[in-house]
Amino acid sequence: MAVPFVDLKAQYAALKPEIDRAIQAVVDRCDFILGQAVSEFEGEFARFCEVRHAIGVANGTDALRLGLLAAGIGPGDEVITAANTFIATTEAISQTGAAFRLVDVDERTYNLNPALLEEAITPRTKAILPVHLYGQPADMDLILDVARRHNLLVMEDACQAHGARYKGRRAGSMGHLAAFSFYPAKNLGAYGDAGAVVTDDEALARKLDLLRNHGQKSKYEHVMEGYCSRLDTLQAAVLRVKLRHLDEWNARRRQVAAWYNERLADLPVVRPHVLPDVEHVYHLYVIRTERRDALREFLAARGIGTGMHYPIPLPLTEAYSGMGFRKGQFPVTERLAGEILSLPMFAEMTEAHVDEVAGAIREFFAGA
Ligand SMILES: *Cc1c(COP(=O)(O)O)cnc(C)c1O
Repeated sequence: MAVPFVDLKAQYAALKPEIDRAIQAVVDRCDFILGQAVSEFEGEFARFCEVRHAIGVANGTDALRLGLLAAGIGPGDEVITAANTFIATTEAISQTGAAFRLVDVDERTYNLNPALLEEAITPRTKAILPVHLYGQPADMDLILDVARRHNLLVMEDACQAHGARYKGRRAGSMGHLAAFSFYPAKNLGAYGDAGAVVTDDEALARKLDLLRNHGQKSKYEHVMEGYCSRLDTLQAAVLRVKLRHLDEWNARRRQVAAWYNERLADLPVVRPHVLPDVEHVYHLYVIRTERRDALREFLAARGIGTGMHYPIPLPLTEAYSGMGFRKGQFPVTERLAGEILSLPMFAEMTEAHVDEVAGAIREFFAGA
């Protein structure tokens, strides 16, 4: 049996009548730009995240960028983030005119190591941008404590952690603001690009509402220059349908992870480490082995899809070759890049799928 890395079609098949109706309703209304479904989704997503405001934007990268801009981050400022992340995190910082400073990650959780935060702070530091990688919240109490002591803004990159919890609190509700991506393969995915910023801060919410829509307060009344980065109404309509299923899908992902944990327990791979009092939402189920490339090939030959998040350490990627990063500067991130493997993970996976993947991994190590 082939097992794909993700299967978006299985989810659509389960929801087809609801999704088709929601899309048709937008087409019937023709309210394509900031239409009814956008404000409805914003209200529902804010409630889901247990915050006051959600502002829909064009994608997750813009959610990060506009969030930082709304908070006043710009040229001359520094923002600290994790070295093990997707380039969107650092792109968003750079695009505000600020500089990013990378901190290595924790060997067990693969998230920003709070113990390394303080030494990365300079007089220019304005914000910390923790990433809740793979669906597990970063250790926010330690991060928020450093931020408070140094009077820094905290914006969460929650693009992989819709619905996750840290000591009871939802991902996205702990910092001053948080960014979400609804890229199709995320735990809550649109049918194209989409994103949102969430915050409890009324002033930031108002600013974001202006920034995403040409600085427009009312039609042609521009109180500032903004951007064109609105959440598409069709995407909002799809997201409204899917949001109603998100908690159940995340519970399903935890079940799939539990099946993997059980079946991989006696094999020479490192399984995900979950912090106490955290609800991981397993955007990705990531294992570690020094024989990663051979295992990946072995699984591919059996029709099992895998991913690597991420195979090239961000500081060593070509885009940043002029920034003076050295090999060995981020030892954990660099080691992970050669050893991590993301196994198939989606809410519709069955126990038989997991048996297939785990069985193949067992076979790989038995033949080694
Ligand atoms: C997906 C993702 C983003 C950006 O999302 P887009 O919607 O593709 O712009 C940012 N950060 C992380 C960690 C992500 O996984």
